[in-house]
Amino acid sequence: MKGIECNIITLFPQIFVSPLGESILKRAKEKGLLKVNIHNLRDFAEDKHRMTDDYPYGGGAGMVMKPEPIVRALEEIHKEGIRSKIILMSPQGMRFTQDRAMELAREERITFICGRYEGIDERISLYFIDDEISIGDYVLTGGELPAMVVIDAIVRLIPGVVGDQESVREDSFFSSILDYPNYTRPPSFRGYKVPQVLLSGDHEKIRIWRRKEALRKTLKKRPDLLKDAGLSEEDMCLLKEI
Ligand code: SAM
Repeated sequence: MKGIECNIITLFPQIFVSPLGESILKRAKEKGLLKVNIHNLRDFAEDKHRMTDDYPYGGGAGMVMKPEPIVRALEEIHKEGIRSKIILMSPQGMRFTQDRAMELAREERITFICGRYEGIDERISLYFIDDEISIGDYVLTGGELPAMVVIDAIVRLIPGVVGDQESVREDSFFSSILDYPNYTRPPSFRGYKVPQVLLSGDHEKIRIWRRKEALRKTLKKRPDLLKDAGLSEEDMCLLKEI
């Protein structure tokens, strides 16, 4: 089975311990489908104070991450000549989507650079990376949580990571529309009932109901998704009924 190797360059390695040590990501590592190498940026600072940041040229607030430790870390990761896709986590990057997660899940090795402070010396994004990814139009204190979000979204797409691959295919965004509503026991909770069709055992009726409800949800919550959803004739009929 094909897995993925993720290298993470960070000043705060501890941030990754819990998300990678629980549940599905933990099991992916145990099954050999995910390998994570965390590189503490401080180990690549060579001056006596192990500085990884410095004042911005031209003045202004905050500190900027120095380029040398980052490039040394990249050289260490690639010293055996095996390439990896180098991604800088940045609010200025292209916004992360499910399509991008699917593309990245096909990579064998990815290196994530996590910024801090005012960000990273611009020469890193100009000359040393393949891509910049943002997880949304807001600014966080560091790139660690964004990198973790991206890793989580990618790894669950790798065959064998999530027990039932069918459930991944039914997730929101996988086929450009939102997931259908899910229910579990009890059949009646505080007077609110599970839709009768789900208890009927009629698989075809359930399939059509789920598709219709997924379309209904998408129309209500994210109508923008429908124009690129590649809807079938059946979908168009269901939408007319809604
Ligand atoms: N001054 C930078 C700017 O306005 O573009 C923001 C720096 S931010 C405080 C510090 C680091 O957090 C960034 O270098 C980046 O690695 C990470 N970061 C913050 N928001 C992010 C986002 N939405 N997506 C990805 N990374 C983000």
